[in-house]
Amino acid sequence: MSDVLLEVEGLKKYFPLTGGLLGKKTGDVKAVDGVSFTLKKGETLGLVGESGCGKSTTGRMLMRLLEPTEGTVRFDGKELVNLNANEMRRTRKDMQMVFQDPFASLNPRHTVEQILEEPLIVHGIGTKAERKQRVREMLEVVGLSSYHAKRYPHQFSGGQRQRVGIARALMTNPKLIIADEPVSALDVSIQSQVLNLLEDLQEEFQLTYVFIAHDLGVVRHISDRVGVMYLGRLVEITEADRLYEKPLHPYTKALLSAVPVPDPNVKRMRELLTGDMPSPENPPQGCAFHTRCKECMAVCEIERPALKEIAAGHFAACHLYP
Ligand code: SF4
Repeated sequence: MSDVLLEVEGLKKYFPLTGGLLGKKTGDVKAVDGVSFTLKKGETLGLVGESGCGKSTTGRMLMRLLEPTEGTVRFDGKELVNLNANEMRRTRKDMQMVFQDPFASLNPRHTVEQILEEPLIVHGIGTKAERKQRVREMLEVVGLSSYHAKRYPHQFSGGQRQRVGIARALMTNPKLIIADEPVSALDVSIQSQVLNLLEDLQEEFQLTYVFIAHDLGVVRHISDRVGVMYLGRLVEITEADRLYEKPLHPYTKALLSAVPVPDPNVKRMRELLTGDMPSPENPPQGCAFHTRCKECMAVCEIERPALKEIAAGHFAACHLYP
């Protein structure tokens, strides 16, 4: 049996640009422009980049909450892009999402019990009594108590609400969790509690994670591999330890230099990123990062570098590594 759970190949999402009086299509916004990766069972892939780099769009396409313009997503041996609505709904039992803003993703008029029961009802799982039992079990699993079942989302702190969001994602016993900035809205002290919880749950339930974040510091601890995205493409992907110790791409280096180093003996040059990310409506020619890159060469303005394996398992898209 294959140990690969997720295979993503050439994934693209283009949003049409329209203009003029007749609203004719004038071009495309290439939000995601050819992303490929594989994920083994039990593995965590961190997907990192600034806001607008396409990481959340990628996460939503994996669930087909957004339809890809092109590309394939193979999950547990099944090609998702060809599934009809019913087949896709059944498959979603095995793949769930945790969102950034726990408050926005929980219905404020429903009790936690109703919120947690809903995925079981949607998928026709269990009797009423079994569902209620499962709600209580999952509350305990995420560090809450069964008496929280009768409360409403506004009665919880941000960290507790994210625990409810995680419990809801786990209700159907999924194989894959796509966590889209799950700790970004939380205080730093609460962030590490939620990250530790996600790690414990991964071990307990053999979960596979795609963990989306804008901060390399957040994903370091939890990720086995990390992919860095810029303007809709992966610019570097490798084992997490290797990425932090030997980053290759100038964009990764700049992102890393912004992450605080806990060891005072380790000095890291701060290479602050200058300028904004260019608009995906009008991306630069050649390497998309060349307008902000300190190591930009003539070729970078003309030719887009392909993602290549520079060392075993370490891929980067940069002309510095021909
Ligand atoms: Fe910088 Fe050129 Fe590498 Fe792009 S290809 S990251 S511009 S050195």
